[in-house]
Amino acid sequence: MFLILKFGGTSVGSAQRIKDLVNITVNSTPKIVVLSAMSGTTNALFDICQKLNEQDVNKATDLINELKEKYTHVISELFKTNDGLNIATQLLNTHFTFMLSFTLDVFTKNEEKVILAQGELLSTALFHFYLKESGISSEIIPALNFMKLNENEEPDSDYIEKYLKEELNKHPTQKLFITQGYICRNVFGEIDNLKRGGSDYSASIIGAAVNSQEIQIWTDIDGMHNNDPRIVNKTHPINKLSFDEAAELAYFGAKILHPTCILPAKKKNIPVRLKNTLQPEAQGTLISNLISNIGIKAVAAKDGITAINIKSDRMLLAHGFLRAIFEIFERYKTPIDMICTSEVAVSLTIDNNSYLKEIVSELKEIATVEIDENQTIICVVGQLPKETAGFGYIVLKALKDIPLRMVSYGGSPNNISVLVNSYFKKQALEALNSHLFNYN
Ligand code: ADP
Ligand code: ASP
Ligand code: MG
Repeated sequence: MFLILKFGGTSVGSAQRIKDLVNITVNSTPKIVVLSAMSGTTNALFDICQKLNEQDVNKATDLINELKEKYTHVISELFKTNDGLNIATQLLNTHFTFMLSFTLDVFTKNEEKVILAQGELLSTALFHFYLKESGISSEIIPALNFMKLNENEEPDSDYIEKYLKEELNKHPTQKLFITQGYICRNVFGEIDNLKRGGSDYSASIIGAAVNSQEIQIWTDIDGMHNNDPRIVNKTHPINKLSFDEAAELAYFGAKILHPTCILPAKKKNIPVRLKNTLQPEAQGTLISNLISNIGIKAVAAKDGITAINIKSDRMLLAHGFLRAIFEIFERYKTPIDMICTSEVAVSLTIDNNSYLKEIVSELKEIATVEIDENQTIICVVGQLPKETAGFGYIVLKALKDIPLRMVSYGGSPNNISVLVNSYFKKQALEALNSHLFNYN
C-alpha cells in the first residue's frame, strides 16, 4: 500500500527545501511523492505565455532566460558532484531550449499548456537527480502517461488506475516513486492541467487510484487554520475536520487546499493529512470521515463573485420558472454557488463570468435582471445541525455592522454563507474572528 505525499511550491522552492525533502520522504514506507513546480515558476510560465500570445518575442525570450538563470543558481547549490551538475545542466538546456523554440513561430492555445507543464517536469527531475546523487533509489512515473481527463474535463478514473498501475508495475521492487502534480492530458491526449493549485487534486486522484492508506499534503503552514491567515492576524490550526467541512472550506476559498481535492479521497474514504514542511513535527490537520464535534470550526472567503438578481412579478411562483432559469446557466456550463429566493425574485451567485453577457441576455427574455459584481462569499463552516439553535444568530450578530447582500443557511449542516461586497471582506473576517473565536 502506498502513502501519497504531495509537496507544494514552497516545499520545493529552493535547493535547501529540496534537500530537506529527503528527511520526510526517505524511509521504508512505500510512497508516491507528488511535486508542484518550484514556487514562482508557474506564475513565471504564465507571464511567458502572455508575452508569446502578445507576440512580444523579445520580452518572452528575456523571461525564459531569467527563469533559466534562477534554475542555474538552484542546481549550483543542489548538486555537489560534477556528474550531478552535468546531468542537471543538460536537463535545463533541454527544457529551456524547448521553451525558446516557441518564440520562433505562431503560438497556439495548446502550446500554452505545454509551457505551463515545464515547472512540474523540472522539479520532479531535479529531485530525482538529487536523490540519485545522494545514493537513494527512486523512479519517476510520468503523470502524462496516466493522468487523463475525460470528455467532461473530469479525471478519467478507470484510465488513470489502469495506466498508473502499469507504470508502478514496471518497477516491482521500488519503494519511492516521484510524479508531477498539476499536469495531465485531455480527452484528445494533448497536454493539459488541473488548473491553478491542482497538484493537491493530482495527489488525491492518485491516492484514490491506488487505494492509498493516507494522502498527505505538505505545505508552508501547519494545517487548515480557523480563518484566512493572509487576511487576519490571529489564527490557529484545526486538528480534525470531516471531509465535508474541509471540502466546504476549500471550495469557499481556503487556499491551502484545491477546491476539488477532497472528493476523490472522500469517495474512497482515504484520510487526508495537511502537514507543514517547515515544521514537520507539528500535528497539522487530519481530514477524515469521522463526524467532528458540534460547533463552528472555521471561516473562509471566496472573491470574484457576481450576484444576479432575477425578478418577475408575474411568473416567479409559476411552475417551471426556476427550471427555466437553471437551464440557462446549464446551457452555458456555469455553476451556481449560492441561491436565495423570495416571492418575487431569485438572487444567485456565479464565480465564472465567461458567459455572463449571454446568460443575462437570455434571462432578460423572462425577467428583470440586475447584476452586482465584486462580491465575496464569506463561509462559516463546522457541524451546525438544524436541531441546534443559535448558529445563525451568532454569525449574523458578529456581522451586524456589515451590509449583507445574501444569506444562505440550511443547504448543508456544515455551512452558513453570506454574500458581501468585497470591500467589506476584511472587516467581515475580522469581525467573525473576534466574535466566533475570541481573537481581538
Ligand atoms: P502550496 O504551494 O504548498 O500548494 P498554497 O499557497 O497553495 O501552498 O497554500 C498554503 C497557503 O494557504 C498558506 O500559506 C496560507 O497563506 C493560505 N491559506 C489560506 N487560507 C488558509 C487557511 N484557512 N488555513 C491555512 N492556510 C490558508
Ligand atoms: N504549479 C501549479 C500552480 O502553481 C500547481 C500547484 O502548485 O498545485 O498552480
Ligand atoms: Mg496549493
